Amino acid sequence: MAHLVQQLQHRWQTLPIRGRGMLILAIPVTCLFTALLAFAWLKASSVEDETWVQHTQNVRLETKRLLNALLDAETGVRGYGLTQREAFLTPYHQSRSVIPEAIDRLEQLVRDSPQQSDRLQTIQSLVDENLAILQQKITLQRELKRIRGGTDTLVPVAALYDWLEEGKVVMDEARFAIDRFAQTEEELFTARRAHLDFYRQVTWIVLCVLGVIGTLGAIFAVHLFYQLEQELANREHRLRATNQQLETACDQLQRFTANASHELRAPLAAVLSNAQVGLMDLDDLSDEGEEAPKLLRKKLEKIVTLTKQMSALVGELLFLARHEGLLAAEALKPVDLRELLSNLWIDWLPQAKAHQLQLTSHLTDVSATVNADINLLRQAIANLLSNACRYTPAGGSIELRLLTDRQQALIQVQDTGIGIPPEALPHVFERFYRVDAKRSKASGGFGLGLAIAQQIVQAHGGEMHVSSVVSQGTLFQIALPLGSVVQETAVTAK
Ligand code: ADP
Repeated sequence: MAHLVQQLQHRWQTLPIRGRGMLILAIPVTCLFTALLAFAWLKASSVEDETWVQHTQNVRLETKRLLNALLDAETGVRGYGLTQREAFLTPYHQSRSVIPEAIDRLEQLVRDSPQQSDRLQTIQSLVDENLAILQQKITLQRELKRIRGGTDTLVPVAALYDWLEEGKVVMDEARFAIDRFAQTEEELFTARRAHLDFYRQVTWIVLCVLGVIGTLGAIFAVHLFYQLEQELANREHRLRATNQQLETACDQLQRFTANASHELRAPLAAVLSNAQVGLMDLDDLSDEGEEAPKLLRKKLEKIVTLTKQMSALVGELLFLARHEGLLAAEALKPVDLRELLSNLWIDWLPQAKAHQLQLTSHLTDVSATVNADINLLRQAIANLLSNACRYTPAGGSIELRLLTDRQQALIQVQDTGIGIPPEALPHVFERFYRVDAKRSKASGGFGLGLAIAQQIVQAHGGEMHVSSVVSQGTLFQIALPLGSVVQETAVTAK
């Protein structure tokens, strides 16, 4: 079950936003339509049932009317028989018109039921027979009255009994047939009523269930909608961040291109002017005597220096372009940082001495191995040592340190140099940035050394930090993820 839910969630996440939006809308709409359809179907069914119930009710009423009319007719004739008064025949006369009407109506009503139609036929013939007997009785009574001539002649008791018995059998048969007919209708009525009640109950239950499903569907849809909204907000946030990054990258690229062009234009102009002057000097070579070759040599040396500078600059630019992003895993090898740093310390001692600086190193006792490209890492640390030498006045000192904590190795280069002003600190890792262009130019930098060092460190998954106080000194720190576990941290001074 949990697996299924996970699969569904995964499917949901992979659906395009538009598809998800459509589904969210589809849930309540489907619930609503299903509810309406189910309600309409149940309503139609119950309306049909109600019609049938009403129909049966009508049959029952009509049957009652028929039976009453028949009884009235008989009672009226009996009363006439006993009293010989015409007034008693009124119900009989009324019944003679009611009975055919009732039978006609019943015929219409039970047309769809062959069994009831057959019974009605039987009832009709029995009723006709009954009415014929009653009519016969009336005729006989009238005849008798005419013969005797008296209006108040009472019927003799024996004749009365005979007379009462007459037609009883037919009357009973008719009643029995009507009862049976009515009984069937009663049963139909009960069944149809039960069916109607059942449908009403089902309608309610279905409506309640659909109501619950609809509500749950709506809640679910709201939940999905909320999720979608969150995701859209996240996406928008990410897009904005990416946009910001792209804008920053574009800005940097623009500055980089502008700076690169500027940096190349200046030495190129110098190379050109030196070459042109050198050519002129060549023309004057014969006239100037001893001085000419010396001047020419100077110009050519200048060209060589400028070309070397340009070549270094192009090399650095190429380096920056080539080592963008993280390094491939196969390019990384375990590097013992203590060994690397102690070799660098030895290599840089003469340089420090030339600048009249004291270079010391403090390296941790425990092994500190990182996965790195050793040449690139050496280059990054060398750039820091070079800056420390260039921006520390004679008599100052430089410290090269290696520390470790549980997860990373920390390489620090600290000097007692001129320092960096706080407002310049956020920019020192930017390409071509120089705190003081004139001063850096004098010391031979293009403002790319720190950018290169930072790019190398980031390519190894590490970070670079700087802290500085003007006129007191600067600390650069490289943090690299350790390649193996370090047991203990200790620092020894050399
Ligand atoms: P550059 O080749 O000009 O030295 P970097 O990228 O190496 O370029 O350094 C950028 C700027 O940061 C330098 O111009 C310099 O002003 C400043 N800087 C770098 N290292 C130091 C340091 N150790 N002490 C003082 N300023 C420094």
